[in-house]
Amino acid sequence: MRMHGQPGKAPGRVPDFGKAAMTDAPLTPDERKADLAALPPDPYRLPPVGSWFGPDAERHLIDRPKFCPMCAADLETGGGITTEYWAGDLRVFMTWCGACSWFGEVVRFDMVTIEEEEH
Ligand SMILES: [Zn+2]
Repeated sequence: MRMHGQPGKAPGRVPDFGKAAMTDAPLTPDERKADLAALPPDPYRLPPVGSWFGPDAERHLIDRPKFCPMCAADLETGGGITTEYWAGDLRVFMTWCGACSWFGEVVRFDMVTIEEEEH
């Protein structure tokens, strides 16, 4: 495989600011705290970066059901709840829909093997 341009850089699509002088001084801890306080609250309330539960919480946000399996309502805006628990290798999302009150489980698989009767 032949590479064009500098290694590790996308050719032509990303502006190259690598040679520009950095004018921003690093924030002091108090400035950083004030900078973060000015941001809106994090709607997902993830654990702090590096915490033991952080990767699982991120995975939950990505993989959880977003819509009701029965009525397709948005679970987050419709007042639904999704709680994840693990049973062996299974990731089970216990889900309640605020729009239609459907209550059940959504199970996520990495792989499934199904046997089918011959026709
Ligand atoms: Zn529903």
